[in-house]
Formats: sequence, C-alpha cells, structure tokens
Amino acid sequence: MGAGKLQVALYWGSACGGCDVAVLDTNEFILDVAAAADIRFWPIAVDGKYRDLEAMADGELDLTLFNGAVRNSENEHVAKLLRRKSKLLVAFGSCSHLGGIPGLANLTSRDAILATVYHGNASLEPGSSGLPQTVTPVNGAELELPTLYHRVYRLADIVAVDYFVPGCPPAPAQVQSVLTAVVKGELPARGSVVGAGERTVCDECKRTKSTKAIKRFFRPWEIIQDPERCLLEQGILCLGSATRSGCGVRCPGSNQGCRGCYGPAPGVTDQGAKFLSAVSSTIDSKDPREIETILGGLPDFISFAYRFGLPASRLQRRHGG
Ligand code: SF4
Ligand code: SF4
Repeated sequence: MGAGKLQVALYWGSACGGCDVAVLDTNEFILDVAAAADIRFWPIAVDGKYRDLEAMADGELDLTLFNGAVRNSENEHVAKLLRRKSKLLVAFGSCSHLGGIPGLANLTSRDAILATVYHGNASLEPGSSGLPQTVTPVNGAELELPTLYHRVYRLADIVAVDYFVPGCPPAPAQVQSVLTAVVKGELPARGSVVGAGERTVCDECKRTKSTKAIKRFFRPWEIIQDPERCLLEQGILCLGSATRSGCGVRCPGSNQGCRGCYGPAPGVTDQGAKFLSAVSSTIDSKDPREIETILGGLPDFISFAYRFGLPASRLQRRHGG
C-alpha cells in the first residue's frame, strides 16, 4: 500500500455493533494496527463527523472496513462517500457481505414493519399514531431522519466492493489476518472472499456422517444429542453443507447447528436452496402425507436457511427504494 502509515476508516451501516467489537477484540493487536495505520474515521471509537469525510480527497483512504447492511438513505449516502474516498472498500461481516440478520426484514414490507413497531405495540403515549418523519420542524429548525428503504441491501448492491470478509461477526483471528494481508500487500484478486476457507463447513467437521434417514426434526433442546454424530442426521438443522468453511467449525464443534454466517460455500449460488436440497435428501419417507408431517416439524425454515443471506438470495422483490 506504499510508504507511510495506512489511512483507514471503519464504518457501520445497518448493524448491531458486533463487527466493530470484533475489531476491538483483537486485543493488543489493535495497538499494532494503531502503529501501522492512522484511523481517520471510526464512529464507535473516534469522534469524526461526516464533514471530515467529505473534506478528504477522493482515494485518500487506503482501506475502509464497512460493516452492516444498507437499510436507509444515510447508509447509502455514506457507502457512496466511503467508496469515493477509499482505495480498498471491504464488506466486513455478514450484514455487509450478504445482508445479514437485518436482511430478514425483506420477508415483509417496510409498511408492515412500521405498522407493527409504531401501531401494534404498547406505547408510552397511548393514542399516539405518528410515524417517524424524514423532516420535522422543531423550534424554527428542521430535524432530519434518514428515509427507511423498502428493502435491505448488501453493500455490493449499492457500490463496487473490493473484498468480502464473512462472519457474524468475523473472528478476531480473521480480522487480524485480513489487516496483516493489507499491511503486507498480500491480498488475493479483487472481488475475493478473504479470511475464510475454500470448502464447506461439513468438509472440516469432525462429526461422523453415515446414514441419512430422518423421521422427525428436532430443536436442539428437544433431544439429548450424540456428540460424535452429524447433527443433521440426528434431525437437528445444520447448514454446514451449504456454508463456506474457515470458522473452525465453531458451532457444530459446540453442539449447535451451523447457522450459515460465512455465506454460501464456493460454487453455491443460493445458500438456502442448497440447504433445502440437503434437508430434503435426509427425509426418510416417500409418502407425501408423511413427508408433509415431517416438514411440519421444521421451525421457521426460511429464516433459518437464509438467516444471514436473504438479500443475497433469489427470493428478493425486484423493486427498490
Ligand atoms: S451437517 Fe453439520 S454436523 Fe453434520 S457434518 Fe455438516 S457441519 Fe457437521
Ligand atoms: S459453524 Fe456456521 S454459523 Fe457457526 S461460525 Fe461457522 S459458519 Fe458461522
């Protein structure tokens, strides 16, 4: 990245803050980052303003780690601004990479969400029926709120992205390896997923796989599981066959099904559809009624299969805004 200190920004769009915390979780490595980089903009840690960003020359930042999905006009504005100001823009974490948990909002409409939140819940102001306005006059001035979009977008739906770092959030070791690769100029081809593997979680899972014959699906707490055997073969949903490796099989290794946070495995176009195919092949019946009963035991399948990647799936509404 040339001589001198790296010029770095970190930003969150529609996100929970976990990705920023993952960067802080690198512990003393963060001091190495501070030694190698000037952190020019990082709302969670540094009191920068948007006008500071606007005042930078185009391309002045060497690297921006952008976490969070694009959910509103502010997210989009800052994503475009950071794209202009950054030589490398990295979609950091599941929400930025694939839409993430906020992307599950795409199962419904903006209006239904607003109606539930502002009209369907108990209120501290009984009888209040107001919705947030983008412009509100207060004491002769105007207060502005961003416009909430009809759907949630991945960062790459809005601007060109140079690299993708998966994970919800990315593990500290992964953050460290990505930042080290940037400092040393050892990044792969642009457009690559970095800090992850090239296989599936199943390929790295130590649990034994044998016969797939399921008569019933279970929530993890409904059965005493065999700690050695494939979870899916015990009827516990596990997205390992559809998910990119690199996390160290953290969830199946901790007796939980993989939830898919590293996104689709290499060669998989639609993670949820691939998982549906894996689940279908495990069902031990050819009787349509029995199959229907077995499938009836699947808890909120679509939210499980697309937990981190609905905006990246083929199930999206076409309209935007
Ligand atoms: S489905 Fe889950 S538990 Fe089974 S082998 Fe794959 S990762 Fe392991
Ligand atoms: S096992 Fe799946 S959900 Fe768990 S960390 Fe790995 S990719 Fe994410």
